[in-house]
Amino acid sequence: MSDTALPQVVIVGAGPAGIRAAEALVAAGIRPLMIDEGSRAGGQIYRQPPDERQRSKKSLYGFEAGKAAALHARFAQLLPSIDYRPDTLVWNCTPGQLDLLHAQRHVEQPYTHLILCTGALDRVMPFPGWILPGVYTLGAAQVALKAQACVLNGRMVIAGSGPLLYLLAYQYVKAGANVVAVLDTARLHDKLRGFPSLLRQPVTLAKGLYFIAWLRSKGIRLLDSVQAIAASGDQQISRLRWQRHGKTTDIDCDALATGFGLRSETQLADLAGCEFAFDTLNQQWLPTSDADGRSSVEGIYLAGDGHGIAGADAAELSGRAAALALLQDLQPSRFGTGDALATQAQLRQARASNIRFRQGLETTFPTPVHWARHCPDETIICRCEEITAGQLRHSVAQDGTREINRLKALTRVGMGRCQGRVCGAAAAEILSHASQQEVAAVGRLRGQAPIKPIPVSVALAALAQGNPNHAKDGQE
Ligand SMILES: Cc1cc2nc3c(=O)[nH]c(=O)nc-3n(C[C@H](O)[C@H](O)[C@H](O)COP(=O)(O)OP(=O)(O)OC[C@H]3O[C@@H](n4cnc5c(N)ncnc54)[C@H](O)[C@@H]3O)c2cc1C
Repeated sequence: MSDTALPQVVIVGAGPAGIRAAEALVAAGIRPLMIDEGSRAGGQIYRQPPDERQRSKKSLYGFEAGKAAALHARFAQLLPSIDYRPDTLVWNCTPGQLDLLHAQRHVEQPYTHLILCTGALDRVMPFPGWILPGVYTLGAAQVALKAQACVLNGRMVIAGSGPLLYLLAYQYVKAGANVVAVLDTARLHDKLRGFPSLLRQPVTLAKGLYFIAWLRSKGIRLLDSVQAIAASGDQQISRLRWQRHGKTTDIDCDALATGFGLRSETQLADLAGCEFAFDTLNQQWLPTSDADGRSSVEGIYLAGDGHGIAGADAAELSGRAAALALLQDLQPSRFGTGDALATQAQLRQARASNIRFRQGLETTFPTPVHWARHCPDETIICRCEEITAGQLRHSVAQDGTREINRLKALTRVGMGRCQGRVCGAAAAEILSHASQQEVAAVGRLRGQAPIKPIPVSVALAALAQGNPNHAKDGQE
């Protein structure tokens, strides 16, 4: 690449997608800037603990230890050829510029090209008692284990939907935790329906079946078809109630890890002005892209779970594909021909197969969205602003609210620290049900900067530096 054509390529996210994107760019002679709010590369699945809490790759990643080791080693090789900035949050994205938070300071970062590999977070469903101390998401429970080498204390229940349920239970029991039950909301009927699609990836399926058999062999109570869970306790959770086949059961417990699949982290794509469409597989509004990750905004590319959940292997493929697309757009004569095109076609095919498997997982572990629709009026939906399901329904009945941003303006749902990342999905389900519309019809919560909490001093510094785009972001 000639010096005059040097682009400033920024990759946000040092997970599987970001690392493979960096690898492809470095191979083409580009030195990308890679930013991650975490301290170490690897993303969610291959998260690395700090030096003082190191454990063997086998105990951290189980069956995926080989893949984790390969990705970490590749990243170490890439380090001299990339500009890596860990512990740095990208909190805003405007045309040609990112706003960063690093060491409590504001930094402006220009870019010509951006690859967003921002990953996902747990999908949360509200139920009575879900905000009690002692109730965690599956992801948070796993982060405690991987990053802090500790498990949730006491008698623990794991409940929700999705394959992470059994993986976490396996990892926790192996680490010595006292897991007393795994409560799966999926029905046997769902599992039988999804099974044929899961045969597309027999090795992954075999691992899942192994976790279940192993947990059974340890005497862990595994139940499917669980409905209507409710946590209770004075200072923190001490009891969990659920229904199954019409029967109510209670169990004493000290901790609950709960989750219902994952949701893509799309806020930066939103602030960058990318087009969005409602995706029925992910039950979420996602930034649109072509098969190689080109977004609707020139120079912005999307990869990994941040533009639809497809798993870590697919994230690696899409990271590479997005980088190749970027290279093609930069230098069509060099990268738009022969081998590069063939590689891209292979990547597309492999990723499509991963997505078909994902469809099977959705059938096997459907998200119980009716939990949000029918949750009791007094259940808190937005924990930042303490907004209940009843307040949302009241707004629909009283004000005729039919659109999610209007609901936000009237009730403050999704206006707090999480900016709707946690409560947005449930609020949309409640609005859709109460206003008798499809969930896609209630619209999408518009992103606002800062996408995650930042110190006021940093926001003021950003305003003082006078990026004209900050004025329209509107928040303190
Ligand atoms: C909590 C959690 C646990 C998971 N555990 C497993 C597991 O055990 N097994 C499994 O198969 N799958 C797991 N998954 C799914 C798996 O993580 C993904 O399929 C895979 O990691 C996707 O890779 P990715 O590169 O797209 O994103 P990730 O691996 O999620 O990487 C995204 C990276 O982007 C960074 N980032 C995001 N936004 C910003 C920002 N604004 N500024 C700076 N940095 C940012 C994050 O810090 C992160 O390092 C988990 C997902 C989650 C959310």
